[in-house]
Amino acid sequence: MRKSVPLLGAFLLAGAVAALEAAEAAASRAKATPHPDVIDDLVAANRILSDQGVVDGFGHVSVRHDTDPTRFLLARSMAPGLVSANDILEFDLDGNAFEPRGRTLYVERFIHSEIYKAHPDIKAVVHSHSPSIIPFGVTDVPLRPIYHMSSFLGAGVPVFEIREAGGAATDMLIRDPVLGAAVARKLGGSAVVLMRGHGNVVVGQSIEQVVFRAIYTEINAKLQAEALRLGRGEVAFLNAEEAANATATNNLVLGRPWELWKQQAFRPR
Ligand SMILES: [Zn+2]
Repeated sequence: MRKSVPLLGAFLLAGAVAALEAAEAAASRAKATPHPDVIDDLVAANRILSDQGVVDGFGHVSVRHDTDPTRFLLARSMAPGLVSANDILEFDLDGNAFEPRGRTLYVERFIHSEIYKAHPDIKAVVHSHSPSIIPFGVTDVPLRPIYHMSSFLGAGVPVFEIREAGGAATDMLIRDPVLGAAVARKLGGSAVVLMRGHGNVVVGQSIEQVVFRAIYTEINAKLQAEALRLGRGEVAFLNAEEAANATATNNLVLGRPWELWKQQAFRPR
């Protein structure tokens, strides 16, 4: 009897360790609750981008998780203008949702997962079909910073050609991690990458910054097209120094337009 006590103890200990390991494994697959402000800001970003005409029924915005950088937050598949806190899901960097509970996921979530995987400094991503940028993805006219508000374009705006990564017969969507990784590579160190015949991806260090950039990318495209129509010669774009300096200045005042856009997006209609 005495001999069986240590044996029993070892047995119980082994059982306890196994249970603990199982619980830890389950916890690692469970949701890591983000700060409520992050959810609120992501909901606001969805509503603002819709209100400002950057997204319509399509397009999406995500943010990297505030406590776990291997995760990000993105709405279930729906129109951004209708997103509420309950629609926000948590994803890993392979694009798998935690606790999807039968909800449909955006087909193009791999744009987000692969950009977060490839670029640890990026904290927020917008994908849209922002209409005015489309011509710049299908012609040889590069999108360039025409004024100080869009100075972040000074880092260059590459164009992603899906035929190079997915062949000549895709449906143009970024449907898998391979295509998502190709978009992330083409983005490089830029703030914006255009997608030929499709839309664009805008990245930033915060939700406020990525929303600012997505809105001013659309405005820049409109203004640049207008300048190209008006001008008889060269258009004077910001040079590299002007672009870098204006970006540093703008980064100090991102909160001002954010508050305005937020109020406009949530105003009663
Ligand atoms: Zn798309």
